[in-house]
Amino acid sequence: MMRSKIAELLESTHFGTEVTVMGWVRTKRDSKGGFSFLEINDGSTIKNIQVIAEDKLANYTKEILRLTIGCSVIVKGILVESPGKGQKVEVQATDVKTIGWADPDTYPLQKKRHSFEYLRTIAHLRPRTNTFGAVARIRNAMSYGIHTFFQDRGFIYLHSPIITGSNCEGAGDMFTVTTLDLQGLKHKDGMVDFREDFFAKPASLTVSGQLEAEVYALALGNVYTFGPTFRAENSNTYRHLAEFWMVEPEMAFCDLKEAVDLAEEFVKSILTSTLTNCKDDLDFFNRFVDKDLISTVEHIIRSTFERLTYTEAIEILSQVRERFEFPVEWGKDIQSEHERYLCEVVFKRPVVVTDYPKEIKPFYMKVNKDGRTVKAMDILLPGVGEIIGGSQREDDYETLLNRIKEMNLDPGDYWWYLDLRRYGTVIHSGFGLGFERLIQFVTGLSNIRDAIPFPRTPKNLEF
Ligand code: ATP
Ligand code: MN
Repeated sequence: MMRSKIAELLESTHFGTEVTVMGWVRTKRDSKGGFSFLEINDGSTIKNIQVIAEDKLANYTKEILRLTIGCSVIVKGILVESPGKGQKVEVQATDVKTIGWADPDTYPLQKKRHSFEYLRTIAHLRPRTNTFGAVARIRNAMSYGIHTFFQDRGFIYLHSPIITGSNCEGAGDMFTVTTLDLQGLKHKDGMVDFREDFFAKPASLTVSGQLEAEVYALALGNVYTFGPTFRAENSNTYRHLAEFWMVEPEMAFCDLKEAVDLAEEFVKSILTSTLTNCKDDLDFFNRFVDKDLISTVEHIIRSTFERLTYTEAIEILSQVRERFEFPVEWGKDIQSEHERYLCEVVFKRPVVVTDYPKEIKPFYMKVNKDGRTVKAMDILLPGVGEIIGGSQREDDYETLLNRIKEMNLDPGDYWWYLDLRRYGTVIHSGFGLGFERLIQFVTGLSNIRDAIPFPRTPKNLEF
């Protein structure tokens, strides 16, 4: 059976042709004149197609009149020009077949608007709403845009491992991967004996593909990863997930400034392609979630990102330190309230903060000549705060070794990473962009749990 996608039918002018629509009933109205209007959605677009079913259809009383929200149907009919307002085409049904019923007494999605909190409890049905259908299509288009951006520039797509034996930034935030029997766990001298475990050593889910991306950048030049990463941080915030997707380009022969330039171009490019390719879905968010959404995105695309050092940022923030909950002090991390103040109040555009104190950044970032700061960069967006974190990597063997020791890490765990600096080392840089945060920004959704199909957060793993 040829299935006609609603997205295509709505643009079609082939009136009089027979079409077959397959989808789910969004609404039904029965008219006294002896016919019913069905609104059908098939996921190909946020828009529904209107179907007119007349009472002369054989199953009109027994079946069509009984259809309710959520039923799946196959409709055959003739595409006709719509006399009604709000749509150009409609389908005059010649046959309506019900495939699956959805009992209106129990079907959780009814016509009223449900809260995001409620919809999270029915993550298996929420993609059938306008909002979550739109998020899914936007997510898809943005993934495609990300690959296109890097492929157009000759970057090699790298599949970095999900299970890792190295800990990129500190073991506290990682999920352990084990086949040990946790119930009957045997200890040796009070410690878990990992020699008994699958890999004969501790293993975890990756928090970043960066270290492996560096390996490949130092052979292939420019690479990028785009995959899931895992953080066991116990933070219940509107912008943290335990499982999220990260895009991580890594470039050989590239310094911090060039990495920031690429990141700015990257963000603007993805936003631009999303505006063009997801117009109907973005219009929906602009109407129902945030009236300034599209104009904000357009503003970001046109603006030049403000660049300043961490030290300069602290100077600005310390002039208004009373406004903040967290202390503003050189050497302390910039918190999300500070990030948003810089973007939303001071500069009113994206902000790039560079050259952070080395104590608050990971060991692999290149130490500046001052010995106190590292070549780090964070890109902050209004609304969501930090969207990208990156750096120029330490390329000097001795300095890197010392940093590893300073941070109380075991150089033995990083022998292969250190080797990259012993053999053919080059200046190189990279960054990581949190995919769901960018989706949050583009859709205006206030909670990151609505930007991923099945969110994983503390105490939450139903689906
Ligand atoms: P934050 O300070 O916001 O918690 P981070 O500094 O720990 O983030 P990085 O290690 O720099 O994050 O990761 C790179 C990017 O990944 C971040 O800029 C952010 O966009 C995204 N990201 C980090 N942690 C999470 C998370 N738990 N959930 C969703 N996205 C995240
Ligand atoms: Mn960061």
